[in-house]
Amino acid sequence: MYIDSHCHINFPELNNNIDNVLSNMKDNSISHALCVSVTLDNYQSVLKLAEAHNHIFASVGVHPDYEDIDEPDVEILTRHAKNANVVAIGETGLDYFRLKGELLWQKDRFRTHIRAAIESNLPLIIHTRNAREDTIKIMKEEKAINARGVMHCFTETYEMAKQAIDQDFYISFSGIITFKNAEELRETVRKIPLDRILIETDSPYLAPVPNRGKLNEPANVVYVAKKIAEIKKITVEEVAETTTKNFFNLFSKCQTS
Ligand SMILES: [Zn+2]
Ligand SMILES: [Zn+2]
Repeated sequence: MYIDSHCHINFPELNNNIDNVLSNMKDNSISHALCVSVTLDNYQSVLKLAEAHNHIFASVGVHPDYEDIDEPDVEILTRHAKNANVVAIGETGLDYFRLKGELLWQKDRFRTHIRAAIESNLPLIIHTRNAREDTIKIMKEEKAINARGVMHCFTETYEMAKQAIDQDFYISFSGIITFKNAEELRETVRKIPLDRILIETDSPYLAPVPNRGKLNEPANVVYVAKKIAEIKKITVEEVAETTTKNFFNLFSKCQTS
């Protein structure tokens, strides 16, 4: 059994075809998926899916790429976090690749999410791109170690991964590790111990090889697991078993009955 630790199946591309998406998961032994919020508005459709399906979990948070939208505060995040279907806070973080400038609002929003995660006793889902130093600095200042969490769709350096692991974080890899030009990232996968690794699709984007360029979906997380097995010279069963254990260790609020 595999778990897709980060997907956006509430986005219309996948949600309009949700029965197929869920049956493809089943056919490929994907037992669960965590559907991740990107805005407070979008959280409503995430929650709907989690309420309708026992094996879909939800998070609440506002993505760092959206500037002019409803700004969350600690109070609203912690209130939503009380919902039984909500198992994490995010996705949150810093993105200096998509957006340029001072981005004070982005840093403030990141701090708000860390505070809400600590107060809710839920792990963080962190999105970080081209912002290594500031991400780690804010995590330390806000004591993100007290919330724990995951660096999702990781594409940064091994040194950064290590600093995150030192703060009791997991590192989640997406289909990017199957891309031809991702040699350096595969080297990072090789160095990180399997007991700190999660797998994800980040669908509907970033479909792994051999489906690159097509619409991505949770069923494709199998290809991420296969690539990790290949890099680490272990069996895919071991990758499936350990990443599943890691997922429930981190997202301990998940109810699987
Ligand atoms: Zn992200
Ligand atoms: Zn995402």
